[in-house]
Amino acid sequence: QRIDIAPVIRKTLEEMELFTAEWGIRLERNLEPSIRIQADVNRFRQIIMNLVDNALRYSKPQGKVLVELFRQRGEAVIKVIDEGIGISEVEVNRIWERFYRVEKSRSRKHGGTGLGLPIVKHLVELHGGSIEVESQLGRGTTFVMRFPLADAEEECAS
Ligand code: ATP
Ligand code: MG
Repeated sequence: QRIDIAPVIRKTLEEMELFTAEWGIRLERNLEPSIRIQADVNRFRQIIMNLVDNALRYSKPQGKVLVELFRQRGEAVIKVIDEGIGISEVEVNRIWERFYRVEKSRSRKHGGTGLGLPIVKHLVELHGGSIEVESQLGRGTTFVMRFPLADAEEECAS
C-alpha cells in the first residue's frame, strides 16, 4: 500500500528512543513531510529499525545518529548517518553477506547474528529501492536508500 514515510519513521524512532536515552546517544531526525512510496508498513519499519539499530550499536558513547528523509530527482531518499566506529574499505564490501560481521572479536561484545543487513537489502529491493553505504573507519557510516515515489508512479500511469 501507499505510505506517508515521515510519520512512519518518526513513530519508529520514538519507540527506539526508549533505549538511546540511557545509552547517552542522541537520535536526531530531519524528515521532509508528504513523501509517499509504495510499501508494506511493517517491512518498511523493519528496514529502518535494522539500520538505526546498527547505527546505535556501532556508535561511540555520546555519539549522534541522524535520520534524514528528503525528495530528490523523483525519488524518496533516506539516510541513516552515524558518527560511530565505521567500517574499513576492505570490509565494507562484505557487510551484505549473510552472517558476515566485521572483526569478530570486536563485534561479539555487541551481540547480533550478521543477518540484519542482508535482510535490509532484500526488503529494500522488494520495494523497488536501492541501498548504498559510505563509511570511514573511526569516523562513521552513512547508509543511503532510494525508493521510487508513489506519486511519480501515478503521473506516469495517467
Ligand atoms: P544483526 O543480525 O543483529 O543485525 P549485526 O548487526 O552484526 O547482527 P548486520 O546488521 O548485518 O549484522 O551488520 C553486519 C556487520 O556490519 C556488523 O556486524 C558490523 O560489524 C558492521 N556494521 C553494520 N552497520 C554498521 C555501522 N553503522 N557502523 C559500523 N559497522 C557496522
Ligand atoms: Mg545489525
